[in-house]
Amino acid sequence: MSHVLHRDLKHVLPRAVKGEGAYIIDSTGKRYLDASGGPAVSCLGHSHPRVIEAVRRQVGEIAFAYSAFFTHEAMEQLADILVAQAPAGLSRAFFVSGGSEASEAALKLARQYFLEIGQPQRRHYIARERSYHGNTMGALSLGHDVNRRQTYEPLLLPMTHIAPCYEYRERREDESTEQYGRRVADELEAAILKIGPDQVAAFFAEPVAGSSLGCAEPVPGYLARLREICDRYGVLLVFDEVMCGMGRTGHLFTCAEDGVTPDILTMAKGLGAGYQPIGGFLVHDKIVRALESGSGQLKHGHTYAGHTVACAAALAVQQAFQEENLISRVRDLAAGLRARLDDTFGQHPHIGDIRGRGLFIGLEMVADRETKQPFDPSEKKWLKLRQAAFAEGLVCYPAGGCVDGKSGDHILLAPPFNLADSQLDEIVDKLGRALGASLA
Ligand code: PMP
Repeated sequence: MSHVLHRDLKHVLPRAVKGEGAYIIDSTGKRYLDASGGPAVSCLGHSHPRVIEAVRRQVGEIAFAYSAFFTHEAMEQLADILVAQAPAGLSRAFFVSGGSEASEAALKLARQYFLEIGQPQRRHYIARERSYHGNTMGALSLGHDVNRRQTYEPLLLPMTHIAPCYEYRERREDESTEQYGRRVADELEAAILKIGPDQVAAFFAEPVAGSSLGCAEPVPGYLARLREICDRYGVLLVFDEVMCGMGRTGHLFTCAEDGVTPDILTMAKGLGAGYQPIGGFLVHDKIVRALESGSGQLKHGHTYAGHTVACAAALAVQQAFQEENLISRVRDLAAGLRARLDDTFGQHPHIGDIRGRGLFIGLEMVADRETKQPFDPSEKKWLKLRQAAFAEGLVCYPAGGCVDGKSGDHILLAPPFNLADSQLDEIVDKLGRALGASLA
């Protein structure tokens, strides 16, 4: 027995010993096709030579240079390559070690911005119900997942939550998709007015809601309406692209597809593709200018912010995207995967909805397809499915629905961008067998 405190104290986990392309191999020699990159991380699979070489080279040259004392080439080039492709206005990048740190940094940056421009009363934040933005206290406060929050209340920061965009369950029959999107976006305006328009600092949302709602997409016009409302009341708009960003939806930045630019955009997961832990944010020029003409300091930092090796890995990931034309490959693979999933599960009695964008696909499990009745959470269908998928040699990312029945269990697929077409068949075949076994 090892002395590791595992998150799951009741099950013995397989021991991963090797990564080979899209596969993880465990200590018994069993191969798992990694169709979710863990939690949407490994977008280049597990053995990309360019990234491995970049990490080796960087460790050899200089392993660590504290970013409060030094700048370095990998960090500068990474910022340049991201900003060059970002929606206009996002002009600088800041790097941390993961998604929760990125959420924390964004919360604090929003606060600092309003202090710098002489609006210290803007202290309130708004986020969405059933959202997830990370596990540290600030990020957990932003999120609204009952299971994840319960244990830590009342320590969390007070936060206002509005409805997410979750058409499958929440669009009324008497409204169009557009009317639905407008209704839920307008909850933001109502919340701002209730709190007091000059009191609100920022609104946080995931453009495509990943682990919390199984790839619930924004309906047309929804993100633009959020932008309009934030502009009307001087509230900062923060998009959390930790999970949905970095090419996963078929665009380097998900919000670009909707033509909407946030004031802060957070990233992680696919940024380092799992080769190194790295997260960060892009920030709008107006915030940079406020800092420059104000205190001249970003009042936030971590020891490993802008870590040399992490930045080198992330830079190599970006170079691989470009050289191998991988973001357009995402769109092609996505079309193939969606078609196969629709064929196989489109009429499945226990799959209520197949949704998402690009290679970021959610399948919502239901007890009854007609009524959309979710499975009873105590049945833990999601866990049974994960176990059945592992038995088949497939890694996918199933998660439980809301305990209050407002969403069902879902399965998230987020395979690597350099998958072979034949591996799409393998994913769907294995998933079909796992689903059958978990429901039996
Ligand atoms: N935001 C979103 C949307 C996420 O999905 C996650 C992780 N699942 C986080 C933030 C937190 O990232 P990390 O686990 O790297 O801290």
